[in-house]
Amino acid sequence: MNRRSIFTRALPIGIALLVIAFQFFSAEKFTNEAGRSAHMGLNPQQEQQLGLQSYQQVLQREQTIDSGPEAEMVRTVAGRLAQATGTAGKGFEWAVSLVRSPQVNAFCLPGGKIVVYTGILPVAKTPAGLATVMGHEMAHATARHGSERLFQQKATQTLLTGVQYSLGDMSYEQQRMIMGAIGAGAQYGILMPFGREHESEADAIGLTYMARAGYDPREAVSFWERMSQAGGGKAPPEFLSTHPSHDTRIQQLQEMLPQAIEIYNQSAHR
Ligand SMILES: [Zn+2]
Repeated sequence: MNRRSIFTRALPIGIALLVIAFQFFSAEKFTNEAGRSAHMGLNPQQEQQLGLQSYQQVLQREQTIDSGPEAEMVRTVAGRLAQATGTAGKGFEWAVSLVRSPQVNAFCLPGGKIVVYTGILPVAKTPAGLATVMGHEMAHATARHGSERLFQQKATQTLLTGVQYSLGDMSYEQQRMIMGAIGAGAQYGILMPFGREHESEADAIGLTYMARAGYDPREAVSFWERMSQAGGGKAPPEFLSTHPSHDTRIQQLQEMLPQAIEIYNQSAHR
């Protein structure tokens, strides 16, 4: 354990910290609609490109539904929400596809490409329910949460590489134990709390989008209630999950509701 001097052990970590400092100061700083500033791992053009690539991969793999009342509803809700993103959605090229799949899921890729699975439609139930989940997913994209997560992962990876060099003289087993502990610390201490913050922000911004688009924000509460029932009550405890527990989410939504209802009352779409 003491074969290396403190200096030899500390040097790779020092270099890693310097690299992280460089990454930190050279990264774009972006302020999202929730008012929080963060460093981005990608620029908007790269996000657009990556989003489009993943979208095309999904469409190649999956069977899409392009006509009929369900596809129509999905397109209408997406169109109204896209308009409601306003300046936050500037530069986005919005598109939506309905995919035939039992998965209870929907997501929006960086740059604005949206995928909705038919499995979520019975849970969404109404256009307002659908607007809740789509607004939430679109908010993740306009707030550029993916890009922020990538920046954090890059920094974590750099630090772990530094630590690995620092431990280079130790046995494989020792290295694996220490790296595992640091990796878990980063996961629970840094990446997951950020994930929960992203969820709360997406809820808040998404609620504003749906209200602006003329969908009653009160419906968001019943949607998340249905969503938690669809999960069969098997959600992991909040600490272990990036998703806030059902009760926390509903409570936060209730607090945001009065402001959202005001926006809804002024919406031209009603
Ligand atoms: Zn989310």
